[in-house]
Amino acid sequence: MGQKTTVRDDGDGANPYLRTGQFRFFMGFSMNALSPAPSILEAAGVSLDRAEAILNGALQGADDGELFIERSESESFLFDDGRLKSAAYDSSEGFGLRVVAGETAGYAHSSEITEAALRRAADSSALAKRGYSGSADHGPRATNTRLYGEDDPTASPAFSDKVALLQEIDAWCRARDPRVVQVMASLSGERRTVEILRADGRLIRDVRPLARINVQLTVEKDGRRENGFAGAGGRAGFEVWISPDRWQEQAEEALRQALVNLDAVSCPAGEMDVVLGAGWNGVLLHEAVGHGLEGDFNRKGTSAFSGRIGERVAAKGVTVFDDGSLPGRRGSLTVDDEGTPTERTVLIEDGILVGYMHDRMSARLMGLTATGNGRRQSFAHMPMPRMTNTAMDNGTTPRAEMIEATKRGLYCANFGGGQVDITNGKFVFQCTEAYLIEDGKITAPVKGATLIGDGPSALTRVTMIGDDFDFDPGVGVCGKSGQSVPVGVGQPSLKITGLTVGGTGV
Ligand SMILES: [Zn+2]
Repeated sequence: MGQKTTVRDDGDGANPYLRTGQFRFFMGFSMNALSPAPSILEAAGVSLDRAEAILNGALQGADDGELFIERSESESFLFDDGRLKSAAYDSSEGFGLRVVAGETAGYAHSSEITEAALRRAADSSALAKRGYSGSADHGPRATNTRLYGEDDPTASPAFSDKVALLQEIDAWCRARDPRVVQVMASLSGERRTVEILRADGRLIRDVRPLARINVQLTVEKDGRRENGFAGAGGRAGFEVWISPDRWQEQAEEALRQALVNLDAVSCPAGEMDVVLGAGWNGVLLHEAVGHGLEGDFNRKGTSAFSGRIGERVAAKGVTVFDDGSLPGRRGSLTVDDEGTPTERTVLIEDGILVGYMHDRMSARLMGLTATGNGRRQSFAHMPMPRMTNTAMDNGTTPRAEMIEATKRGLYCANFGGGQVDITNGKFVFQCTEAYLIEDGKITAPVKGATLIGDGPSALTRVTMIGDDFDFDPGVGVCGKSGQSVPVGVGQPSLKITGLTVGGTGV
């Protein structure tokens, strides 16, 4: 009964999204000294004092808990087959109130922000206590760090400019190469404001922009059709990605991939040495070991990595970290959804397992410190340990050397996405751009290659680590227990020996 998780790179409008910039400082805590606007609660007519009193009543005798309030605005535009196929705008707000007692958590949420709704939520979530008597855990430390601005991608550029841009991308791709028969271009943006009210009256506020552009196209030659895809984004306004040279870079990349695939032959199957390209391929790391290092699975002993701190779990030279504190990255957060500031958490150091990613609950129950990995899809969900930007550190070997050192193998330049079963670490990945390696040289592009393996053993078979570390361009969406959150991944090129390649050839 595995915990299935997936990462995909098609995240258009998968999440609901975000909105406006007002803030509030409370108890000496400030995210931005220029922010006099009222909190979401106050804007909805609920005083902070009343909310605090209700929260305090619910948390009496509990170990932890908070009131999470959120307002989001999101929009997405999809231009497909020469026309605007969809334009969606969504705004929502609501709260979730959580009461944690031991390993039990009560959660109640509502899209109606009123004192009456808060009271009902407090009454029902407090049932988690059922006579339990705990002592309140320390609140998260404060931070003045800001990893992104308060840009509102839904407000700028204007609606008509966004549609015109997508039309321009479509026309440009078709003009670029007569083999282009289909173009799908999209923009999605959101701004999400979250507020976390603690029992001590502290209100932690974070305004999170998120923008993304995607170009997918289909080329046709002699009746054969192939696709290419590229995208980019992060926590900023659209302006960062939509200058002509930036979007043309995405369009060129999608076209390049599609044309490579036009010439691809069937992929042979079997056990092979695999060289992975840098950047987005870190999604393998995310799946193969990242989920298995999330605190909840380890607390419950259900991960392939449970109870293995201090043990060698990867080859020498392999250092893996999760870092939510990188400015502007898609998976970055100034504070997580429990109010804990994010940080760089080293998970594997030179091959030795040294840590897990924790939310407040898994940290408390394991006697450790929260690492800023408590995340939730929205106010309608409880937080749980989730990755932010997960990556493997740089090595020293040029990629060309890895290829030269491979007699027969597969060079995987790009993945689509993949999935993993947490309990045994078994993963499957689809390559979207791959080539055969024969006698130390990259030869024919291949189609339909999948990589099959298990995370714990794959990392022990890393034999070469590249010097070309890169993060992904900002397109990842991670799903876990029905909740989607934006994430980042990264890695240098890697050589892994003896992976199983599933192919379509004989
Ligand atoms: Zn995931």
